[in-house]
Amino acid sequence: MTEHALHSKAFNQAIEEDLIIGSRCLVCGKISIPQRQICPNCHSDQAERVQASGQGTLAAFTVIYVPPTSMADAGYNAKNPYCVGIVSLEEGPRISAQIVGLDLSDPAAIKIGMPLRQTFVTRGEGETAKKFLAFEPI
Ligand SMILES: [Zn+2]
Repeated sequence: MTEHALHSKAFNQAIEEDLIIGSRCLVCGKISIPQRQICPNCHSDQAERVQASGQGTLAAFTVIYVPPTSMADAGYNAKNPYCVGIVSLEEGPRISAQIVGLDLSDPAAIKIGMPLRQTFVTRGEGETAKKFLAFEPI
């Protein structure tokens, strides 16, 4: 592992390669996703890069009907809402991301604890296109 592998942009660069990465503390073993420079558990700065499996479960979610500008530009609105969830990753950490592949016309059918896997969505076009982490039901 190099110092470079855990710099602050590493997580977003890994997303471009369809990977979720984080850090594992070399002192206490705590896994942080995205990576942390300082372990939140023991405050060590000694860590190695880890790659998440991309599997997790839905811990919480909200359906967004009034999107921020970036999501409105991507085509979301009250008639085309989207779901943002907190996903408990298999490795332990929780991460916030868009949840795709759900029937948002019936939010009551979305179940806490449902298994999810990583997927990636691209928003924007041309030079402004950017890939984002998302999750979908398995
Ligand atoms: Zn630690």
